[in-house]
Amino acid sequence: MTRFDLHLHSALSACAENSLSPRRIVRRARQAGVSLLALTDHNASGNVPPAIEAGRQVGVEVVPGLELTTREEVHVLVFFDALEPLVDWQAVVDAALPALENRPAVFGYQVLYDAADEIIGVDDRLRQVGVSLGLEAITEAVHARGGAVIPAHVLRPRHSLVSQLGFIDPSASYDALELGRRDWCRRGCRLGERLEGFPVLTGSDTHCLEDVGATWLEIDAAVHTISGLLEAVRRMAA
Ligand SMILES: [Zn+2]
Ligand SMILES: [Zn+2]
Repeated sequence: MTRFDLHLHSALSACAENSLSPRRIVRRARQAGVSLLALTDHNASGNVPPAIEAGRQVGVEVVPGLELTTREEVHVLVFFDALEPLVDWQAVVDAALPALENRPAVFGYQVLYDAADEIIGVDDRLRQVGVSLGLEAITEAVHARGGAVIPAHVLRPRHSLVSQLGFIDPSASYDALELGRRDWCRRGCRLGERLEGFPVLTGSDTHCLEDVGATWLEIDAAVHTISGLLEAVRRMAA
């Protein structure tokens, strides 16, 4: 059995609490029985390496990933099985991000931590904006690197497939779709169900410490990577 949550923001997201360090996140998740999680900061992954390290200390597997804002302003969760392809992908994201400075007084700070809860820096680049790459190109490029693409909170009225494109294209090659927690509950969804042919998941979209571990999904398999998890979910859906 694996309890997981693939959508958590750390202090590196301007809109998340500054105290949301990787170590605090994995420890609190562990207390709630979550053993697989992903930090999905907006166009950023600098807190993933310390999360992996802090997770190892308490027995929580951290899936390398981030939440991308596409050119169409769609939020997409991107995951890899290992850190190296994420680091490569981050370089692509950085090159496609407009050269704008963050304004902490308006948007909030983007805080980088180490695995021992020390603040090691502040990211000055404005992260929470669309990159110059479109959804299709992103999906292709991530797949070419062995990663997974899961459009986030697809039914939400902002930054979603439905709000930005008007529909969910059943012929797209997404690995799954994420429904926001509210839509998931309202529709009475369960793991194993499909929407437009895609397996559906939900995540907490945590932005503050008290939300860590409050919502999760559980799967009847021991999984340690995103591909392992998606394979198990596809099997359920079959
Ligand atoms: Zn989002
Ligand atoms: Zn999010």
